[in-house]
Amino acid sequence: MKLTMILLLLILSLMAVVGAFLTTSVSSFYINTFYQQMDDVFGEGNPDFYPSLCREAAQENGPELIQDMLAANAGLLGIDYRTRNYYVLDGNGMFLSSSDEKLSGQPEITANILAAENGRVGDVSDISADYMDFAVPVCDPEDPSAVLNIVYILDNRSTVSELNSQLFLIIMQALLVGLLFSLLLSFLLSKAMVGPIEKLTAGAERMSDGDFGSPLPVESTDEIGVLTGTFNEMARVLQETLAAVENERNKLDTLFLHMTDGVTAFDHDGKLIHCNPAARNMLRRPMDQLTTYDQLFGELRPFGEMLSLQRPDYAEAEMRVEDRTLELYLAPFSDREQGGVLVVLHDVTEQHHNEERRKEFVANVSHELRTPLTNVRSYAETLLDANGDIPPETSASFLGIIINETDRMTNIVQDLLTLSRLDAGNAELTLTRFRFGDAIESVCRANDISARQHGHRLTCRLEPDLPLITADRSRLEQVMMNVIGNAIKYTPDGGHIDVTAGAADGQVWMEVSDDGIGIPEKDRDRVFDRFYRVDKARSRESGGTGLGLSIAREIVDRHNGRLYLTDHDGPGTTVRLELPVVPLKA
Ligand code: ADP
Repeated sequence: MKLTMILLLLILSLMAVVGAFLTTSVSSFYINTFYQQMDDVFGEGNPDFYPSLCREAAQENGPELIQDMLAANAGLLGIDYRTRNYYVLDGNGMFLSSSDEKLSGQPEITANILAAENGRVGDVSDISADYMDFAVPVCDPEDPSAVLNIVYILDNRSTVSELNSQLFLIIMQALLVGLLFSLLLSFLLSKAMVGPIEKLTAGAERMSDGDFGSPLPVESTDEIGVLTGTFNEMARVLQETLAAVENERNKLDTLFLHMTDGVTAFDHDGKLIHCNPAARNMLRRPMDQLTTYDQLFGELRPFGEMLSLQRPDYAEAEMRVEDRTLELYLAPFSDREQGGVLVVLHDVTEQHHNEERRKEFVANVSHELRTPLTNVRSYAETLLDANGDIPPETSASFLGIIINETDRMTNIVQDLLTLSRLDAGNAELTLTRFRFGDAIESVCRANDISARQHGHRLTCRLEPDLPLITADRSRLEQVMMNVIGNAIKYTPDGGHIDVTAGAADGQVWMEVSDDGIGIPEKDRDRVFDRFYRVDKARSRESGGTGLGLSIAREIVDRHNGRLYLTDHDGPGTTVRLELPVVPLKA
């Protein structure tokens, strides 16, 4: 439509200009030709005509003679008796005769007639006037200042008007043809120019809907063709960039999905936009898009403060969720409008536990070593202070105590070393293949004397044909020694200790039951902890370090087995050991 309108306006204005120019040119050409003709007849181009005209005028019947002369030269003057006529006027401009009988009236007195009355040639005409005239004073040859007659030529310009109307008609026709032509042209132009642009627009719309798959055909080598090619290239680059972004997002999604740290992200208004499964698990509350930063972490750090942080600055905080301790790292992820805050959650409960356990362990070790050291020191000091005044039996018993205490310390240090090797994982297991039953019988035999000393009845009942197992025999025997040794230690003299063993479901088992003091319900979980003893005095008395069961459990764990207390009715304790028969993977 725009194109058509432009072309129409162009044609209209062109035609208007051409029309105006043509009509003006025709008028001025006609006027020029008129005065040229007058000049040719009356001027210097025809030197005899005017003087003879004056001579004739001086005759008695001057006006008739003038009339005859003019009639004779009508052709030269362009008199056609229709549009152009001549008049013969007297010296005052009064009508005497004319070329056409119908024009017998007085012509209108014009500026040119007035000029002629005053003895000058009236040859001035206005292009805008609807007539052209020319007036020549015919003077007395004897007295050139006396105007005898005036020859007046008047053209009513109807020829020009007719010509102009003809021209107008032609211009109108040309305009009509031009308009039709411009319509046709604009239709063709729109097909050639607007068509490809419309295709390009449709392509851009498809692209904005996410369809990058169909490139636009490049149909020409002109600007539109170049633009289409550039557009296709842009679509390709955009598609590649989008694919790369998508790829990055997938990578990040997978990372967030499987990472053990929690990640939550909030938009600029503090609304939750991302939360990975680890974060849900840690925060232990239902979360959706309506969850806000303030609900989760508002009390720890205000949202505004986090947004105003400049990257790479970040804030740290700690929060407790039920029994867990979470360490939080809060940072803004962009300082723009689309930015927000990212919160990374790290579960440090285990770390804290470990730290507490480590402190407790150090305190325990110090305490365990300090007691025998204090004893050693006090007995040694007594011996030193007595300076030989002590009876030899007493000093011998003091020295015996000192040796016992140092043995105890050696045992503690030895056990600690064993534990630390097991912890560090560099206590190599020396695997051999042996009969499970043989190991048990050998340990039972070793404990037989000690059991008898306490008046215990130690029975060893094994299922026949216990299988061969692959394990570190000496360490396993250390475990059995500890468990049977405990049963002997913590059973009042004259007790009954029963060792049973068997095999089932691809594993071997051994149970050590006694009818001793037993382990109260509340302590059952903790007897495998380091330095944990139910009755400290009794354990120390019997030379226990409180590390035996923890070492035993570590060893069994390394064998992929289990060591635990079984629940049972009645007094006493039952400790059960289970080990896989299949060779260890380690
Ligand atoms: P200890 O060197 O003190 O014996 P252990 O680690 O072997 O250390 O045992 C830890 C604690 O478990 C002991 O101090 C004792 O209180 C308790 N305990 C172990 N075995 C028995 C048992 N058979 N009967 C009663 N209490 C036991």
